[in-house]
Amino acid sequence: MSILQIFSPHISPVSLDFQPSAVQHRYPVATNMACMNTVTEEQVREALGTVMDPEIRRPITELKMVDEVSIDGTTVTVTILLTTAGCPLKTTITEQVEAALMEVEGVEKVHVIMGSMNEEQRKALREYLNGGVEERDIPFAQPGSLTRVIAVTSGKGGVGKSSVTANLAAAMAKQGLKVGVVDADIYGFSIPRMMGVEHEPQVIDGMIIPPIAHDVKVMSIGMFVPDGQAVVWRGPMLHRAIQQFLADVFWGDLDVLLLDLPPGTGDVAISIPQLIPSAEILVVTTPQLAAAEVAERAGSIAGQTRQRVVGVVENMSYLPQADGTHLNLFGEGGGSTVAARLSTALGYEVPLLAQIPLDVDLREGGDQGTPVSLTDSPASEVLNELAQKLGHHARGLAGRQLGVTPM
Ligand code: ADP
Repeated sequence: MSILQIFSPHISPVSLDFQPSAVQHRYPVATNMACMNTVTEEQVREALGTVMDPEIRRPITELKMVDEVSIDGTTVTVTILLTTAGCPLKTTITEQVEAALMEVEGVEKVHVIMGSMNEEQRKALREYLNGGVEERDIPFAQPGSLTRVIAVTSGKGGVGKSSVTANLAAAMAKQGLKVGVVDADIYGFSIPRMMGVEHEPQVIDGMIIPPIAHDVKVMSIGMFVPDGQAVVWRGPMLHRAIQQFLADVFWGDLDVLLLDLPPGTGDVAISIPQLIPSAEILVVTTPQLAAAEVAERAGSIAGQTRQRVVGVVENMSYLPQADGTHLNLFGEGGGSTVAARLSTALGYEVPLLAQIPLDVDLREGGDQGTPVSLTDSPASEVLNELAQKLGHHARGLAGRQLGVTPM
């Protein structure tokens, strides 16, 4: 079964007699008709070309979303075709169209009529976004892909793997990278809440448009599971679902894709290297030595799947005290132990990349949908440094096959 068959977004009918608000002109209105320029359709379309679809992030003219344009003196009426009838971004698009058109010299009033694309138009758009092909492969698995894929894993739940993923994603996006996150943690999908995702993904002719939060494209297995139900998918179905997340989602051109894996060494951890052989692994653990053992096991799967472990992150490392000292609430040494053991097992240096303190702001930010890495706090500082380290190598050519044949 396709995840789209499971997914049933709430679709509200498009109101074709949408009544836009008349917009106040920003500049003094000329009273002498002879002074006024005649508004041309070319000017109107040029102005519409500056309006971006908020999630596809391409001009609405390029996406063929502009249907009819009519000009009556100083009044412009445009019909915009939404990609899906229930498009949650209707109001944003309307406001942006109104604002862009009010910038055109001579325009005093704008009417925006909302329609939606028919099946044929949606198919054409999907093909256009696919780069003209019917079926899509996983873009990150292609030899020339410049996207760095990092799978975040842990030995057990509750160590802060999802918090690290969400915060890294937000920090990297803040640093100017194009970032996507796939929440593949089937047992505890928490990324949409942590990232503050407000609506479900739109689907255009089978292609899924990921919602964007804090400039990060977010997809979660939780978006395809009815509220309150557990995921009962096993092996092949899970593999297919992950494959669709990677292939059927319009990711665009990403610098980094972070995958939040379920804890342990289950089906998903084995599917990822099959689907994206170049995916690297980031191991999250806590300072407790008992946690370190299971984390080491999750990391050592890389030896069998021939993936690279990019490093270890120790979370909940200490509680900063008022006098500047550290209280090691959960013991110490877990992160460095995992890093040392993985280095020995894998035969190359696996560094301990960060030690993140316990921080109430981190927990609150996760609950409220504002990653702490976007604010100022002890944990934020460490997370931003980690994002710098990992993001720095994104799009690098080191170690990549350049596709040139030596003479
Ligand atoms: P996992 O993905 O490993 O199951 P989560 O990221 O969901 O773990 O974290 C579990 C809980 O611990 C969440 O409520 C989260 O806000 C909290 N948490 C994680 N890291 C920290 C930290 N450094 N300081 C305070 N709370 C944290």
